[in-house]
Amino acid sequence: MVDPKTRPLIVGSGIAGLYVALRCRELGLRPTVVTKSRIEESNTRYAQGGIAAAIGPDDSPARHLADTVRAGAGLVDRTAARVLTEEAPARIADLVRYGVPFDTVEGQIALGREAAHTRSRLLHAGGDATGFSIEETLRRRVLAAGIDARERTVLRALRPGGRVGPVAVLSSPTGTGVEVDSPRPVVLATGGVGSLYLQSSNPPVATGEGMAVAFRAGALLRDMEFVQFHPTAFAREGAPRFLITEAMRGEGAVLRNEAGERFMVGRHPDAELAPRDVVARAIQEEIGRSTHRWVYLDATALPSDRLFARFPSVTSFLVAQGIDPSRQLIPVAPVAHYMIGGVATDLEGRSSVPGLFAVGEAAATGVHGANRLGSNSLVEGLVFGERAARRLADPKPGGPGAADGVLEVPPIVGRGAQGEPALVQEVREILWNDVGIVRDGAGLREAIARLDEIATLTEPATASTLPGPVANAALTAALIARAALARTESRGVHFRRDHPRPRPSWARHLGLRRLRRTERGR
Ligand SMILES: Cc1cc2nc3c(=O)[nH]c(=O)nc-3n(C[C@H](O)[C@H](O)[C@H](O)COP(=O)(O)OP(=O)(O)OC[C@H]3O[C@@H](n4cnc5c(N)ncnc54)[C@H](O)[C@@H]3O)c2cc1C
Repeated sequence: MVDPKTRPLIVGSGIAGLYVALRCRELGLRPTVVTKSRIEESNTRYAQGGIAAAIGPDDSPARHLADTVRAGAGLVDRTAARVLTEEAPARIADLVRYGVPFDTVEGQIALGREAAHTRSRLLHAGGDATGFSIEETLRRRVLAAGIDARERTVLRALRPGGRVGPVAVLSSPTGTGVEVDSPRPVVLATGGVGSLYLQSSNPPVATGEGMAVAFRAGALLRDMEFVQFHPTAFAREGAPRFLITEAMRGEGAVLRNEAGERFMVGRHPDAELAPRDVVARAIQEEIGRSTHRWVYLDATALPSDRLFARFPSVTSFLVAQGIDPSRQLIPVAPVAHYMIGGVATDLEGRSSVPGLFAVGEAAATGVHGANRLGSNSLVEGLVFGERAARRLADPKPGGPGAADGVLEVPPIVGRGAQGEPALVQEVREILWNDVGIVRDGAGLREAIARLDEIATLTEPATASTLPGPVANAALTAALIARAALARTESRGVHFRRDHPRPRPSWARHLGLRRLRRTERGR
């Protein structure tokens, strides 16, 4: 029985947050959405390639599941991935019902292909403006439904001990005021961490603050070492790191080094369509040998009209940069792109803290294992968003299972609450240089030492002062580095040059939790 007085607080306005809000409303709840910047600002808005679902005549959820498991390097939670792949078509039907204008061919939804998918199963909209179309459609629906949506940054989720849910502490957009909410279910749909890295495909809002908020509340985080790097972002000095979608390689574009050679051929049976981590590391190697800080994407063999029609956003960006991709090579290099880890949840978005949910990129269900199959993330927000909304409407206790191993991280005792942009910039450099595509123990230890120093500067000195967004971002960065140091092997997107192979003993998820012993002192 739905209690209409239930008013979940949904944090974030990407695909996960907006979809959960809409479904909560349809299920009779009264959700509020808070979001750090303008409502449309999110990773979702920039998604290009598509959204994966097995709807083609030659496809099946079982095949989609097999591809997801194969990409995940031995760590995919099969139950979660089965849920994702089986429920994806129904969630796509929801998007169609909301009015997302998916591209069609002869009246049928058009399906594209991407690396490591064995079938064409990517729905797209506006060519390569898939995320934009979804975000705009959901945003309009949320506003039309009269759902209260405000610009606020969530700083903290306090646990007063009630059964309803935590108490969120929010800052105003200017950061000058603080509001303390009442206890209610809180859904973290705060997205990923890409902008904690110097080179990133993500917009500035993606700084992993939701993960820090959950961690401070005592929630279990999981898989924080697994940050996916996208191999091909535009790489001209001074220009934005605009993503050049993998779907372009799916259509036949190839990678070439400075000498014009196709360096992926012979490196992997799928050449340019090898998993993203393999392509990203190969590009890094080529860059190491090159006089440039990039390699080239060559789309000149693609029919020009097809290239411009299928990729209108990418091609118009390139033309504005003075590159005609039908005739010229595109300089590209890897960037931080997607956070596989996050707040550990069960299949209904419940974290280990009662009343605290996480959905979308902020959550870690285990569905991506150690390497995400491209285009599985937009749909993840819908599938687990639907399940979270249903659970919010019919609350029952639950949460993620115990992690296979948990790293207990002591809280940093702060000396102040500085929030200088220079510190954020330093965090981004540290992560890119020492916690990036290729890592090693010495670099990770150095990174942790400096990130801890930064944390002492950004963490408040007294328990009554709240951590600001910079402290939350620095905390998330330190957790990524700690998890990366702990995993002494290479698997999926996590590559250690000092432990270059996977180890059977590491075929497990790593949890992180705030050390409880010292919690009393804060
Ligand atoms: C360039 C690019 C291309 C991509 N292409 C694809 C693709 O083709 N297919 C695919 O499946 N995936 C793709 N991805 C990944 C995909 O877009 C994301 O994983 C997905 O959109 C995440 O959705 P989300 O709702 O979880 O988070 P987001 O869309 O990132 O939304 C997070 C929201 O939380 C808000 N927020 C953050 N912190 C706070 C805070 N403390 N308080 C309040 N609000 C906060 C943000 O402002 C934002 O509104 C791409 C990503 C990028 C960057």
